[in-house]
Amino acid sequence: MSGCEMIEQSRTTCALGGMYTALAMERVLPVLHCGPGCQAQARSLLGTINGAQSAVPFQESVIPCSNFGETDVIFGGADRLRTLIEHTQAAYQADLLIVFSGCTPEIIGDDTASVVSSFAASRTPVLFAETAGFRGNNLYGHAQLWTAICDQYLRPRGAEAVIPGLVNVFGIVPFYDPFWSAQLEELALLLRSVGLKPNIFYGRGKGLPEVDKIPRAEFNLLLSPWVDLPLVRRLREQYGTPYLHYPAVPLGPTETSRFLRALTDFAALSPARTEAVIREGEAQYYYYLNRNLQWLYTCRVLPKYFLVNASAAAALSLTRYLVNDLGLIPDKIYLPENVPEKNRSQVEGYFRDTELNKGVAGFPVIFTEDGGLMAAEFGDRLFDPGTLAVFGSFWDVLFCRERRIPFLSVTTPQGNRAFGVRHYCGFSGGINFFTDYFAVLAELGPFGM
Ligand code: SF4
Repeated sequence: MSGCEMIEQSRTTCALGGMYTALAMERVLPVLHCGPGCQAQARSLLGTINGAQSAVPFQESVIPCSNFGETDVIFGGADRLRTLIEHTQAAYQADLLIVFSGCTPEIIGDDTASVVSSFAASRTPVLFAETAGFRGNNLYGHAQLWTAICDQYLRPRGAEAVIPGLVNVFGIVPFYDPFWSAQLEELALLLRSVGLKPNIFYGRGKGLPEVDKIPRAEFNLLLSPWVDLPLVRRLREQYGTPYLHYPAVPLGPTETSRFLRALTDFAALSPARTEAVIREGEAQYYYYLNRNLQWLYTCRVLPKYFLVNASAAAALSLTRYLVNDLGLIPDKIYLPENVPEKNRSQVEGYFRDTELNKGVAGFPVIFTEDGGLMAAEFGDRLFDPGTLAVFGSFWDVLFCRERRIPFLSVTTPQGNRAFGVRHYCGFSGGINFFTDYFAVLAELGPFGM
């Protein structure tokens, strides 16, 4: 960005937001070494207004924090952190503590690593992740947490055997993907249906026992365009575990069938069993789609084009579904999460890998940190009412409302809609998405007006 440009409508938090990955693991407790307001900054985007999410069992309001202040800037905050860890161990029933450091202790050079290492012999393991906000966003913080787990917690596999069919599932970032919990449960059902044993680290009943099994997996499954790619590569080095990189959480019949066949090839599963799962999934999807088809006629003018302003993971899943199964054409895809330069051409390639013909496959994929770029670029552009739909975050509501554009919130921050077991994954996730999409079309009336 040049000097006078600025970022608005951020879809990411600072690196401290990586603590939400810890909060998604049961009985794993973040301990914050940062200023008193830092946690609120992350919560305001990843928690409360992001699908009304809160952590279980350790809610944000009970997370220990050193409340780093002016005195600590002058004299250092290491002693305060040591006391905080001691009190946390006495007061909380946690299986693992992870210290997340914010900007101030890192700027003044607090030796947080040495404080944490002094607890090496304690009953509850204590890890340390460097997550100063100036280092990156919450996806960086998520990666730092996994680096800490690999460096400081996981043990060599030793004589323990690989468990046949056990597959570690990476790529879905809890809380940042607002549907993460139900998304992972649906994914687990899919994996089990073709004969695998999913090893999932986040959500109801998931945590350290699953992390402990990481070295024993037969392979790692990565379901994201770029997040966690360094992690599965690292685990291949650390344990020799191969990985399958499928870049999108499969949504709808086309992608889910393709994903299951790729998985079957990779893991040498039974093709007959997989085809039976696909037949059943497609039958369910098209049954419900046909029941809702009347909506197509009552809406009459249906959007042909769409804009996406979302995380790369959400944008890719949706784009593939909207193109391959609903026949829409991408107008422009905005990815406001600061995808690393080195991953960009590969990520863009994933968006081109759809069933679009060459004439319409040249849509722009924009890599940015600026969530407001879509609105700024759109300006006063004219378009026929009802011909365009937008998939973004709560930030995009006003932009769409002013222009009477059908809009569905699919990415962080989601707004005040609670999800329960709602997910956009697999065959049934396609039905969920279809019904949500047509609800917003119907809201705008028969001609999108
Ligand atoms: S950027 Fe630094 S000071 Fe700001 S919230 Fe994040 S850790 Fe705290």
